[in-house]
Amino acid sequence: MSRRKKIYEGKAKILYEGPEPGTLVQYFKDDATAFNAQKKAVLNGKGALNNRISEYIMISLGRIGIPTHFIKRLNMREQLIKKVDIIPIEVICRNVAAGSICKMLGLEEGETLPRSIIEFCYKKDELGDPLVSEEHITAFGWASTAEIDEMTAMALRINDFLCGMFAAVGIRLIDFKIEFGRHTDENGDFQILLADEISPDSCRLWDMKTDKKLDKDRFRRDLGGVTEAYTEVATRLGLIKDNPKKSTPTLSIVPNGDT
Ligand code: UDP
Repeated sequence: MSRRKKIYEGKAKILYEGPEPGTLVQYFKDDATAFNAQKKAVLNGKGALNNRISEYIMISLGRIGIPTHFIKRLNMREQLIKKVDIIPIEVICRNVAAGSICKMLGLEEGETLPRSIIEFCYKKDELGDPLVSEEHITAFGWASTAEIDEMTAMALRINDFLCGMFAAVGIRLIDFKIEFGRHTDENGDFQILLADEISPDSCRLWDMKTDKKLDKDRFRRDLGGVTEAYTEVATRLGLIKDNPKKSTPTLSIVPNGDT
């Protein structure tokens, strides 16, 4: 992989040039960062877990008609994706109050919101990804009104699907962040695709019975057991074989049967 051209290195992932024009290889690192990279750690196995969980979610969303950048998983840490121009907006969908909305509106963590709420943040690390309105997005030309409408509609469909998918394995989807990219295929057809990743790094996931956090808040809040929690999410989704002889499940990945 080191011989491939590195296109971009982010906090948790690296993008390399792909084997075909219009493709990239997305490599999932074990690095964890929080609070705008002020807090850092290496969590062994996190990259492989996020690669597998994100693959499963992207394939599942593709099946319900959400266009995604995902092509196929290449190995434990890498997936082949379509090259897109990332829209510089983080789309956040919230079902239950947690994180920044609690601080901003004085809500109690765990309060169910009156309805699912979509927020937009401008992707700018130097500014700490500030919350912005549609007015800012269109005025500064980050996305058009039509693109905002499309991203909002997709985020709500993704939320509906993921709430059901996680509920089926005893997990409550509190909130999540997604990113979209502009893609033009070989026939010149233009489309907005779901990009980046969907994993316990970008979602809040609580056990339905105990409210145990199974996501990156374990790292942000020094709760410990971060990779164990991600492993539990993968195991409940049926992505990891539970080995009864071992105290922690092995990361022998169950083939998805799709690729
Ligand atoms: N999130 C993310 N990347 C970011 C900011 C937020 O993946 O740069 C996710 C976060 O994990 C949570 C949701 O988006 O699932 C809402 O995050 P929030 O605005 O509460 O931010 P936080 O307080 O976690 O920084």
